[in-house]
Amino acid sequence: MPLLVNLRHLEEHELRLDGELPVAELDLQLKDDMCLAKKPLHYTLEVQEMENELLVQGNLTLPLQCECVRCLKSFEYMLELEHWTRLLPLEGEEKTPVDNDCVDLTPYLREDILLEFPQHPLCETDCRGLPVKEGKAKKATKPGVSNQEPSAWSELDKLKLK
Ligand SMILES: [Zn+2]
Repeated sequence: MPLLVNLRHLEEHELRLDGELPVAELDLQLKDDMCLAKKPLHYTLEVQEMENELLVQGNLTLPLQCECVRCLKSFEYMLELEHWTRLLPLEGEEKTPVDNDCVDLTPYLREDILLEFPQHPLCETDCRGLPVKEGKAKKATKPGVSNQEPSAWSELDKLKLK
């Protein structure tokens, strides 16, 4: 079942929605497999009908299975949208589609969740990557730098002596 809001129920009072949306229903159509969504989206939303608009506010959380771009470790990432807000117009050119008095919130959830997807997932903010690669890089650069400076000075010394 998609996440539907019945406008008739909204006429008298605001609605509170609290539940889970199966990830298949969210239909994220992810192209790369750096982050996978397998668990359901959890939502706590409040929906109010304003003048010609629906105001949707609340929190969304979606657990993701990500692969760290630096060390390739797989880890769980909690995608959270706190105080998520959408205004959905019920009139005019940008009018939200209404079917049998119901508005489907699913496409709006999908849109904003995709925007929050981590582009470069890291297992920890200061992940140092694969230890082998790091070690090699340090050994290669440090001696090079320390060798250059004395040789420059010794060239100067030679000039002074002349
Ligand atoms: Zn990592």
